[in-house]
Amino acid sequence: MKFDKVSFEETLGANVVEAEKCVGCGACVVVCPFSCLEYNGEGPDLVKECRVCGICPQVCPKFEWSRPKLERFVFDKEAKVEDEFGIYRQISVAQTTDDRTAMVGQDGGVVSTLLSFALKYRLIDSAVVSGIDQQRALYPVPRLVTTPEEVLRCAGTRYSYSPNILALTDAIKQKSTSVAFVGTPCQIRAVRKMQLAGLKHSKPVKFLIGLMCSECFTYDGLVKTHITGALGLNPSDVRKVNIKGKILVESKAATKTIPLAIAKKYARKSCQLCDDFSSELADISMGGLGLNGWTFTIIRTEKGEKLFSSAVGGGYLNVRSADEESYALNLLTKLSKRKRKAL
Ligand SMILES: Cc1cc2nc3c(=O)[nH]c(=O)nc-3n(C[C@H](O)[C@H](O)[C@H](O)COP(=O)(O)OP(=O)(O)OC[C@H]3O[C@@H](n4cnc5c(N)ncnc54)[C@H](O)[C@@H]3O)c2cc1C
Ligand code: SF4
Ligand code: SF4
Ligand code: SF4
Repeated sequence: MKFDKVSFEETLGANVVEAEKCVGCGACVVVCPFSCLEYNGEGPDLVKECRVCGICPQVCPKFEWSRPKLERFVFDKEAKVEDEFGIYRQISVAQTTDDRTAMVGQDGGVVSTLLSFALKYRLIDSAVVSGIDQQRALYPVPRLVTTPEEVLRCAGTRYSYSPNILALTDAIKQKSTSVAFVGTPCQIRAVRKMQLAGLKHSKPVKFLIGLMCSECFTYDGLVKTHITGALGLNPSDVRKVNIKGKILVESKAATKTIPLAIAKKYARKSCQLCDDFSSELADISMGGLGLNGWTFTIIRTEKGEKLFSSAVGGGYLNVRSADEESYALNLLTKLSKRKRKAL
């Protein structure tokens, strides 16, 4: 593919980073063929003179993208007005049948079950997920995992940003040929843009598993200021953080809560400009949507449908119809519409 010869400074530098729209996905850093960009923990730093190849603007989820073009690329059609949370083939509510996964999963443990299933049956050789930093509890770090054991160690949600795309570099180094990528809607869009541009880091990606996402919170705000400071908890003692109308912080001793209205002050600024709640370009999208112990699952592509139905057929997942989940469905529609209006 030929790219317009434009520089980082005149594209992403001026229109995304300086405009405070950068979500920190890391896609530009990963694709630069001249290693001009480094990830500074929040976004890209230009560390060498840009060679004006024009590749990084092609992958940024916040720069010049066309929804219809990406929809045609992924689904061979464009969403209609009535597709309020994007194109899909079926929706379902699902839950793992494995007790260990149920213990560590955020909602129904469906993401981790699909990854373990796909690794076991060699549908993939690795998966990009988010693990936890060894030194800092609750601090998310991108990981490339290759075994169901590692998948389980990375299960659950961390509500600070994890630039999972950075782990695609490890996939290339390890010569992975079939990768499942788990990420937030902004990351799913970036990986689709990488695929559309035919870039090497996206070549091994076989499945895109998108998470639903209202926003991410800064680690300093949510974990240091609030969980450690205001709630007086040691982050290492926190077993799980979940959002069900409010933030629930579950530790060995008790579950403490943070009202969402208070937590909002720790939300990242760039997330306020986000227009995708449900990972509309993923093969399968998953969220909790107020359910307890179940994952709301939107199966969007044929590939996603085959993976999901094989796991159900193999007895790895329990499923029930989503049609009666009116609360979750209404929430999904409301949050998707609200985000689309945010721009
Ligand atoms: C930042 C964030 C915000 C979210 N907001 C909402 C919301 O508003 N409403 C809603 O319904 N659902 C939301 N979700 C999705 C929800 O928390 C669950 O991930 C989803 O329901 C799947 O649950 P599960 O039990 O099937 O997943 P699990 O089996 O527990 O697997 C979860 C996967 O997510 C990965 N992961 C964990 N943290 C991150 C991260 N920060 N970035 C990228 N990947 C990560 C893990 O490595 C794991 O592979 C959010 C998720 C994230 C990461
Ligand atoms: S990919 Fe690298 S060399 Fe190419 S425009 Fe971006 S920063 Fe410059
Ligand atoms: S590709 Fe991602 S990290 Fe790079 S400028 Fe765009 S949003 Fe920021
Ligand atoms: S709210 Fe949007 S920009 Fe922020 S992490 Fe979620 S998908 Fe990315």
